[in-house]
Amino acid sequence: MDILTRGTVLNEEVRVICCRSTELVREAARRHKLSRSATTALGRVITMGAIMGSMLKTDKEKLEITIDGKGPLGQIVVDGYYGAKARGFVENGNVDDPQASIGQLIGTNGSLRVVKDLGMKQPFVSTVDLQSGEIGDDFAFYYMISEQTPSAISVGVGYDEKGNLAAAGGLVLQLMPGATEESIRIVEDIVRNIKPVSQLMMEYESPEDLINALFDDYQELGRETPEFKCECSRGKFARIIRKLPAEDLQTMIDEDGGCEVVCKMCGKRYQFSKETLEGYLTAQRARKAS
Ligand SMILES: [Zn+2]
Repeated sequence: MDILTRGTVLNEEVRVICCRSTELVREAARRHKLSRSATTALGRVITMGAIMGSMLKTDKEKLEITIDGKGPLGQIVVDGYYGAKARGFVENGNVDDPQASIGQLIGTNGSLRVVKDLGMKQPFVSTVDLQSGEIGDDFAFYYMISEQTPSAISVGVGYDEKGNLAAAGGLVLQLMPGATEESIRIVEDIVRNIKPVSQLMMEYESPEDLINALFDDYQELGRETPEFKCECSRGKFARIIRKLPAEDLQTMIDEDGGCEVVCKMCGKRYQFSKETLEGYLTAQRARKAS
């Protein structure tokens, strides 16, 4: 089962968030029928979406991550929600190139944008240039620029010898204000020598075990279950379709005998029958007449 744990180490001078996100990534790959390269790329970003979602304070808050590196995979969009929930897609989910690095496939000629909706009048928007396109470094840079928080971030997706998804996960270490030189040195040392996080997720029973192997004073502040979650519903799409111009509805009725809508974020399909569309048309005419 996926699990995310967050807390502090080194006398509360360093914040730690560590998660196993294997099932979350598997679900995203299944829903969008992703190639292996696309699974790795979206997997890393959606793991960050879950991690950043776990840092939100209420279920009224949410965030949207857009990675646009101008590479073959195209844009990657991920929404993060309270409680480590996330959803997302990659524009070109069939692009596959095992020889290329993820940074090459995402591209570096672009930006990482985070929009945080914290229930205020205006959302907080922050955009930074992509650094390596490998995602971990890019988010570390984002935290440095937008929140002045020095961070070491590792996100990864690993496969077995047969090429099947074996593990995914993320590890975030952030220096709190006032962190001592000694703590900084310890963190730098760990980061320099650590194995890829996907491999660590295979070696350790749980994210908590991994943190306890790296530090000896872990204080857990919370834990969550990362999960793929999309807020789409038939009703939401119905509200949009109902307002389409009458001639468009008529075309769908006459030529297609109904319509099918696919949610871009989760890949779910919704069918609207000819009769349903005819009902919308009748309602539109009635509104106009009244
Ligand atoms: Zn959806």
